[in-house]
Amino acid sequence: MDFELTPEQRGLRREIIAFARQELGATVAEDDRTGRFPIEDWRRCADFGVLGWPVPTTYGGGGLDPLTTIIALEALGYGCRDNGLVFAIGNHLWGCAVYLLNHGTEEQKNRFLKPLCDGGLIGAHALSEPEAGSDVLSLRTTAVRDGDRYLLNGTKCFISNGPEAGLFVVFARTGDGGGRAQNALSAFLVPADLPGVRKARELGKMGLRTTPMGVVEFDDTPVPAANLIGREGAGYSIFTSTIEWERSFMFAGHVGVMERLLETSVERASTRRQFGRPIGSFQAVAHQIADMKIRLETARLLLYRVGWLKREGRFALLDATIAKIVISEALVQTALAAAEVHGAQGYVTDLAIERELRDALGGPIFAGTSSVQRGVLAELLGLQGALSGEAR
Ligand SMILES: Cc1cc2nc3c(=O)[nH]c(=O)nc-3n(C[C@H](O)[C@H](O)[C@H](O)COP(=O)(O)OP(=O)(O)OC[C@H]3O[C@@H](n4cnc5c(N)ncnc54)[C@H](O)[C@@H]3O)c2cc1C
Repeated sequence: MDFELTPEQRGLRREIIAFARQELGATVAEDDRTGRFPIEDWRRCADFGVLGWPVPTTYGGGGLDPLTTIIALEALGYGCRDNGLVFAIGNHLWGCAVYLLNHGTEEQKNRFLKPLCDGGLIGAHALSEPEAGSDVLSLRTTAVRDGDRYLLNGTKCFISNGPEAGLFVVFARTGDGGGRAQNALSAFLVPADLPGVRKARELGKMGLRTTPMGVVEFDDTPVPAANLIGREGAGYSIFTSTIEWERSFMFAGHVGVMERLLETSVERASTRRQFGRPIGSFQAVAHQIADMKIRLETARLLLYRVGWLKREGRFALLDATIAKIVISEALVQTALAAAEVHGAQGYVTDLAIERELRDALGGPIFAGTSSVQRGVLAELLGLQGALSGEAR
């Protein structure tokens, strides 16, 4: 196994870090306060190619292989102070574009991928509903076939990018699945300018406040049958076979943030003196920092392994699930440790450590909560019913 980055990957990493530091996040403190989406930074990312990194060049993307995409996103997370912007990009890529890449028809790819890559369309993923969170199969949004279209009705909530999105990947019930819940759902590409699409409400949140989030309603929205992803009734299997990307690639930026927090904490522990000594010379502080490094390297190894599996074209749900749990929880622990090492400076807004902590807290919830991921893992290990309480 080769753990070295190639010269190209090292060069790309350097370029991305320089771009992110110089061009992104200049207004993050104010945007975090007001909950503003930095559209000008989004456009800079589009121009730099970020929005199409994993998309083949034939569809207007950068054609990066999965492992290189992970290295690129990690560098973006490290260099960009605006974690909400990086999270918005993650939703765009892994909640929307990847569904087209893996399951779209040629016609759908040609229609939607280019504007997703060049910044013309912002992508979003609309699965969660007021009554259906972890229990995806209980969702209530319906899509009823009506000639060459489907009429879509329902309400989706907590939709990242929702208020700004031009294209939603929407999951809806298209029947009873012949008595099998897994066959009752279908996935659709729903442009935001179709009649009956209503961006009903923006949601304020604790962290990642520069990612817009909202409630989206569909009222007899006529979705062309040509916008069905895969076949009718395949929505759940499309979701479960694609979620491994979201559960791992979405967290590449987290690894970059962990590295940034580690460096900031080492600097603080070396320069801040109490009792006549640098605080880093106290074992309690030094061990906090050692644990930050252990978490960082554990997270990175797990993530790169998923990148390698996907580059080899292999199924990676188990590895992605482990990576999701470990990385999201590691970032929370690391952000807490950074706050502690910084004392009151970790609590006030001057150094933004408190923002890093608020931003970290969503990770163990989105893309499936930590508890639910542990249930998924147990089921993958053969413990039927560990997640749903029944053998599905
Ligand atoms: C920052 C952020 C961004 C998001 N973005 C999107 C998005 O873009 N699109 C989208 O569709 N959704 C999005 N979501 C919603 C997210 O997917 C859901 O929050 C998540 O799936 C959990 O659902 P819930 O919040 O309804 O919690 P619930 O399902 O109600 O769970 C509540 C608690 O019960 C526990 N629980 C539930 N079932 C089980 C079980 N079987 N075993 C053990 N514990 C269980 C959970 O772990 C949790 O602690 C986002 C959420 C956040 C926080």
